Amino acid sequence: MTDTTPTILWLRRDLRLSDHPALTAAVERGGPVIPVFIRDKLVDDLGAAPKWRLGLSLADLDKRLRDKGSRIVFRSGKPADILLDLARKTGAGAVYWSRAYDPDAIERDKAVKASLKDADIEAESHTGHLLFEPWTVETKAGGFYKVYTPMWRAVRDREVDAPLSAPSKVPPPESWPDSDALEDWKLGAAMDRGAEVCLPHQRVGEEAAHGRLGWFTGHAIGEYKNTRDFPAEDGTSGLSENLTYGEISPAQCWHAGRRALHDGGGKSAETWLQELVWREFAYHLIYHTPRIKDGNWREEWDAFPWNEDERRAEVKAWKQGRTGEPFVDAAMREMYVTGKMHNRARMIVASYLTKHLMTHWKVGQAWFDDCLTDWDVASNAMGWQWAAGSGPDATPYFRVFNPETQLDKFDPDGAYRRRWIAEAQSRPTKTALSYFEAIPRSWTMQPDDEYPERVIGLSEGRQRALDAYEARPF
Ligand code: FAD
Repeated sequence: MTDTTPTILWLRRDLRLSDHPALTAAVERGGPVIPVFIRDKLVDDLGAAPKWRLGLSLADLDKRLRDKGSRIVFRSGKPADILLDLARKTGAGAVYWSRAYDPDAIERDKAVKASLKDADIEAESHTGHLLFEPWTVETKAGGFYKVYTPMWRAVRDREVDAPLSAPSKVPPPESWPDSDALEDWKLGAAMDRGAEVCLPHQRVGEEAAHGRLGWFTGHAIGEYKNTRDFPAEDGTSGLSENLTYGEISPAQCWHAGRRALHDGGGKSAETWLQELVWREFAYHLIYHTPRIKDGNWREEWDAFPWNEDERRAEVKAWKQGRTGEPFVDAAMREMYVTGKMHNRARMIVASYLTKHLMTHWKVGQAWFDDCLTDWDVASNAMGWQWAAGSGPDATPYFRVFNPETQLDKFDPDGAYRRRWIAEAQSRPTKTALSYFEAIPRSWTMQPDDEYPERVIGLSEGRQRALDAYEARPF
């Protein structure tokens, strides 16, 4: 029997209509569906760029829902209070949402579930953000995988449910509860003039994400293995910004990748599927060891003499893309302008900060938290600790990337450098100049400045890092 009381669909990082198990279940429950987004502490705590990008995603989904006769109700405050208030006012008998896996979201969701149950309201979390629930993938000895490759082997041939279609209708309630206006939240306030420069680099919403997935699996996936490490090439899917807000589901990506694999995509398609599993690995780690988010995953690294002082000139230079190290500077500028950074470049700038500059990975993580429009709590924490050497299955601390030789190898004709660094170019590219439109005036940087001297010699920085490693107390 269907229940005709309304169902509240509590939206979070699942801003899409297709392959949305919570939405499908809400529609199937039979009554009206009330999609709600709550600006809670987790939203308020987001960095400038991800908060702004979230606003774009919400506006897009609200519009898509309106095309179906529905909409999003926007509310600010404590989720439990708001959901109970909405349930009281609308007569809703159930609240559905898509599951989250990081410690802050889990704590919030547990409290919400308890409050709703106390009030006799059905509270149900659904899958959708991951391919494999973290408690379903176990090593032979029991427990979760702490090393990536065996996890990949364990899941590569698993069945992943076929993606669900978007419901043809999202039945509206007879009258809509009060809603804030999304524009009044000013989610982009901290972006200042950077937003204007960053906007053309965003691929916002479900439709755009599927357009890109279609292009990527149709045209680029076959060469992915060869092009994915070259930051000047359009050789990767660019779907991280869509995955992080749930504008596309990992299962939709997985099935498209599998189809490409069977249609002759070969090793390259498999390599891409492996990257999707790196995302899973990050979520399984944060679920099973939540400390990865804020502390060294290998706790002995607490004793390592990282420098945490962000006011140092070299840390400022790193953030502002003026270390005098072209690969590092190009990458930091790419992130400031586009909200994203190529994976190879993320590895280089993270290694440089934590090793050449001996700076705590948390300093870099916090800057990425603020600047990335594809910011993802699990992948960012894992990525930083991978680079710093304090994480599981991490690159060893003594392996220090050399940004100069990396540039020779992965940007042999200098295209990436020219794309992002204006100084010392007779005719700087538009993208390189756009950086100067995005940055705050207080950085006092001009395109016709001299290109800066290195803040540290590469061999000097490397030796200092290795000496600290040799002298470590563990
Ligand atoms: P593709 O190469 O097309 O890969 C497909 C998808 O697989 C990606 O969209 C992503 O969801 C996943 N993926 C790929 N590589 C990784 C990886 N190394 N770890 C986890 N998932 C991966 N990724 C984020 O989405 N958000 C972050 O905040 C983030 N921070 C990072 C910080 C550091 C220091 C490092 C080294 C990596 C970080 N990554 C992060 C991982 C990776 O750099 C990006 O996912 C990738 O660059 C996104 O580009 P793409 O969508 O074109 O990826």
